[in-house]
Amino acid sequence: MSEKFSPTLRIGDLSDFIAPSQACVVSLKGLKTTTPNTRKRDKPEVAIANREQDDPVKISLKDCLACSGCITSAETVMLEKQSLDEFLSNIDKGKAIIVSLSPQSRASLAVYFGISPLQVFKKLTTFFKSLGVKAVFDTSCSRDLTLVETCNEFLCRYKQSQLNIDEKSNPSLPMLSSACPGWICYAEKQLGSYILPYVSSVKSPQQTIGATIKHHICQKMGLRPDEVYHVTVMPCYDKKLEAARGDFVFEVEQEDANKNSLRITEVDSVLTTGEVLDLIKLKAVDIETLDDSPLDKMLTNVSEEGYLYGVPGSSGGYAETVLRYAARMVFGREIEGPLAFRSLRNKDFCEVTLEVDGKVVLKFALCYGFQNLQNIVRKVKMGRCDYHFVEIMACPSGCLNGGGQIKPKLQQSPRELLQSLETIYMENILVKDPFENPLVKSLYDEWLDQPGSEKAKRHMHTEYHPVVKSVTAQLHNW
Ligand code: SF4
Ligand code: SF4
Repeated sequence: MSEKFSPTLRIGDLSDFIAPSQACVVSLKGLKTTTPNTRKRDKPEVAIANREQDDPVKISLKDCLACSGCITSAETVMLEKQSLDEFLSNIDKGKAIIVSLSPQSRASLAVYFGISPLQVFKKLTTFFKSLGVKAVFDTSCSRDLTLVETCNEFLCRYKQSQLNIDEKSNPSLPMLSSACPGWICYAEKQLGSYILPYVSSVKSPQQTIGATIKHHICQKMGLRPDEVYHVTVMPCYDKKLEAARGDFVFEVEQEDANKNSLRITEVDSVLTTGEVLDLIKLKAVDIETLDDSPLDKMLTNVSEEGYLYGVPGSSGGYAETVLRYAARMVFGREIEGPLAFRSLRNKDFCEVTLEVDGKVVLKFALCYGFQNLQNIVRKVKMGRCDYHFVEIMACPSGCLNGGGQIKPKLQQSPRELLQSLETIYMENILVKDPFENPLVKSLYDEWLDQPGSEKAKRHMHTEYHPVVKSVTAQLHNW
């Protein structure tokens, strides 16, 4: 599998093969093969083992069930619907294009061009709008929404664990973060049912901004959800797989006489940071001399004074935000200043505790990269994990080091690049508590009611599904 994906997803897919007598599950569901004269050789194809080499089944990203049964890498399947070509063709079709930019991608472009993250945001807004994009939003905003829901879920789980009822059949802690699709894919495909109850049900910032745009913001913009084509810019290819999950599709009734329903996807396409750089080069734009545009404030963490704001923590700040919240809500403690994370085995495995009267009452961890992740899940399986919350990310060093980020320049080592990214990530960005974010407050007031409400659960939370590894076993189950 490609180096572009997170190491966890790559290692998790080592068993990604089809046995000689087996065929793709999707082909059994009636997909047609391409005919030789219409087949495009430059498009991803899935070669099925019991077919002729010349007779591939063409399977789109949405069709693939990620059943682990494919002889090719899942990468080739998932890229077809999520490319620059697809993005540009949707602009040509006259769709209302909305782009949501991640703060990690912003940092990567800032280091590459030698400008600040705020300048990147303003210049990218100019660039995308020159192509016909309607609005450019900020996933720091939806990340705050994700964090508020995560804090609320943690509090519920913590209270349940204190009641000590049903803990064996319905375990509540440790709560494992859910924003990284590389980790989620590994958990579903390789770990399955024992680990999934521990995983937070809150959607990632990519999917919460998708749900917010397609269920709520598009109406404020005078658009129907089917008129909007929503593209995110993300630091990894794993996000493409996440966007294509069936859990993130909903149906709306059409206004025609037949009242047929339309399938709407929260995120229609994901471009990596590197692909956006390719687009800038393709259009021969000199980003540094491009004018700055005002930011679209509807879903962007920008203050009245023009400063960007958000939480520290280049992988989302989940452990930090939840710890501060739990300290305040459960123990009445306001934690001032930065948290004292201690490195354990390596810099990608750190823990932080809250002590009250000399006793550790909360124990949280950051766990990045496949090896650390494996240690944690082993402990959870054996019932020996004493953390209350673990922020899990598949990539070593977290999201700034995602496989879709811009590669180091000549003479620049990966370590130097990472240091530059970590420095620039919060440059001139105000630290703000997600609960104080006025955009998040108004989303609850206008739409979601309150954290953990029925509406919030419907739009901001999801479910996970253990994946049956063997195609044969899956077919037998049918
Ligand atoms: S992973 Fe499974 S469903 Fe997807 S293309 Fe491969 S065999 Fe088909
Ligand atoms: S750690 Fe971040 S960049 Fe890496 S796969 Fe997970 S979400 Fe993507």
